[in-house]
Amino acid sequence: MSATAAGRKPRAPAGTSAAGTSEAAAKPGAAGKSAAAGKSQAAAGHERRLKALGLETPMDFVLHLPLRYEDETRVVPIGQLHPGMSAQVQGEILRSEVLYRPRRQLTAVLADETGELQLRWLNFYPSQQKQVSPGARLRARGEVRGGLFGREMVHPRLSRADAPLATSLTPVYPSTEGLPQPVLRRAVAQALAQVAWDDTLPEALRQRYGLMDFEQALRTLHTPPAAVSGYTLGEADHPAWNRIKFDELLAQQLSLAAARAARRRKRAEPLPPDDSEQGLVRRLYRALPFALTGAQARVVQEISQDLGRDFPMHRLLQGDVGSGKTVVAALAAAQAVANGAQVALMAPTEILAEQHFRKLGDWLEPLGVQVAWLTGSLSARARKAALAAAQDGGAQLVVGTQAVIQEHVRFHRLGLVIVDEQHRFGVGQRLALSKKGEGQDEHVPHQLNMSATPIPRTLAMTFFADLDVSVIDELPPGRTPVVTKLAEDGRRGEVIALVAQEVRRGRQAYWVCPLVEESEALQLQTAVDTWEALRQSLPDLRIGLVHGRLPQADKAQVMQSFRDGALDLLVATTVIEVGVDVPNASMMVIEHAERFGLAQLHQLRGRVGRGSAASFCVLLYQTPLSPLARERLRAMFETADGFEIARRDLAQRGPGEFLGTRQSGMALLRFADPEADAALAEQAREAADWLRSHDRQAAQAHLARWMRGREEFLRT
Ligand code: ADP
Ligand code: MG
Repeated sequence: MSATAAGRKPRAPAGTSAAGTSEAAAKPGAAGKSAAAGKSQAAAGHERRLKALGLETPMDFVLHLPLRYEDETRVVPIGQLHPGMSAQVQGEILRSEVLYRPRRQLTAVLADETGELQLRWLNFYPSQQKQVSPGARLRARGEVRGGLFGREMVHPRLSRADAPLATSLTPVYPSTEGLPQPVLRRAVAQALAQVAWDDTLPEALRQRYGLMDFEQALRTLHTPPAAVSGYTLGEADHPAWNRIKFDELLAQQLSLAAARAARRRKRAEPLPPDDSEQGLVRRLYRALPFALTGAQARVVQEISQDLGRDFPMHRLLQGDVGSGKTVVAALAAAQAVANGAQVALMAPTEILAEQHFRKLGDWLEPLGVQVAWLTGSLSARARKAALAAAQDGGAQLVVGTQAVIQEHVRFHRLGLVIVDEQHRFGVGQRLALSKKGEGQDEHVPHQLNMSATPIPRTLAMTFFADLDVSVIDELPPGRTPVVTKLAEDGRRGEVIALVAQEVRRGRQAYWVCPLVEESEALQLQTAVDTWEALRQSLPDLRIGLVHGRLPQADKAQVMQSFRDGALDLLVATTVIEVGVDVPNASMMVIEHAERFGLAQLHQLRGRVGRGSAASFCVLLYQTPLSPLARERLRAMFETADGFEIARRDLAQRGPGEFLGTRQSGMALLRFADPEADAALAEQAREAADWLRSHDRQAAQAHLARWMRGREEFLRT
């Protein structure tokens, strides 16, 4: 019988599995003559594999916790076995034979007073065959299957019957190929005897949060007492698991707090606000065609204060699609430029970067700000000019794709870096970005990250202790919510008629082509086919096509025509996913909506409903739908709230995938789950504050214990 340790996450640490659980079956020990030589060779192999799992010091082993347990404390009557159960039985071998069909295998029948069970090995040693001679009394452990000839165990582990039973549950550890469980168990047992058990948590903290003693918690998890009734080790909130998860979350909070403190020790150029009537920021306000929403005004204020400090801002600006983040970026840029500093703005796609370039240019150039444009696809001459403008300070604002952060791009006096849709960039790119400007008299630029993927509060709290978060939780006035319709692909004709109707009303529409993940060429082909088919069905409409392979200039031109209203319908691949802003577009059709992720669908849908016209989004799907796809479409149908969508997305995909594992210090958490353990995470955060101010030494010791081998997370 196996108790799953529900206390920990179902996922094993990267690169591990519960491999090696059937070790004894695959490679029976003590076979062959050169056993001794083989053994030391095996030992070296084991050591290497342990090291690869990060297991070296006694504490490493002690913190290597079981995935689940096997109950070898009792013997189950054969008559009570059922398929799927993992159990230990004992009895007498009635018969055994080697079969040759379908392939060579050893089978034996084990019986007790209550029934018979077949045992089977697909490869075996002669010694094993001897072991199962009729009349032998054996104990067998393994998983029960419902075989062709009744219940059976394949590759059971055998031992002599009537040996004393285990007194504690047998742990099954995360392992890798070639590292048998007994080896791990021995190593852990040894470590339990050697390790220095001092508790890094002061008594006061343990009391306050009702935490189990460190040693007791770990001994319980490694050698849980025999399954006494009511034993709840398998439950997530068992005190032993709780203590370990708390420790882990506390270590994470301490390391993030350390990173925050380190950032405060860095120097940045203070770019204080200038509220005079003739200041650039005031002039920009006056030039804007709208007044800021309350939420925008609030976040602008937060950013403005940060910029005035002499340590670098590190702020995440979250706001649903269409909430108006661009103008916030423009105001931040204006404040920096007013102080004589340069600003770099980076967007993940050329289309989006180009749109920012134009929009910020429209707002800022009339006020005398020079804006440069830098992407990978510039001509050599244009590129040289842009680089020169960045370097000599001729351009106060440089907008572009990731080309902006390449090595050779130098700035004269970079004061602020803005990253749009920051989740689209890898960590490497963002690191490179934050390093930009380092070396210019040791100043680090302020950094503003913008994201339309709202991160649920609990997650943000756990991961971004070193990131201040501003949230725009209000849409500009006059928007009518986008109505979402689901339509099976068979109703395509009706959908096309809807497009025509929308265009007759003077509106514009997007038609998003299906995502073809396997092949970009295929995706392109699909887009072209769709475009042609739509031109056939809608001969009166002016229909454009934009996709990733189009040269940048052509892409820009198509987008411009659509923006100008010279095109009625824009057939597009997902290049329009982020940020495109055409308020007159009021309809979007997404083909094969079932192939898109939830966040992506929400982003796409956010392209409409930007003006005051009632807008709608049609999700065309093809049946049969997988349960997950059905859930996604349902979520899209039921809600337009980005935070709610993010919550559901997170629930579907788990935080690792949701955030991109390496992006967030996720790898730090082996046991705790920031969503499920939100309450614990909150306590850990509180405890981290307390520890840092009351017992630095304990904080240090705790970090050292939990961060070994993960020092990378102490930096950033
Ligand atoms: P996102 O947050 O998705 O980047 P944008 O910055 O592109 O959103 O803004 C969406 C649209 O709303 C744009 O057309 C923008 O000009 C407009 N907008 C932004 N703020 C306001 C406001 N306070 N009042 C009216 N319209 C606004
Ligand atoms: Mg945007």
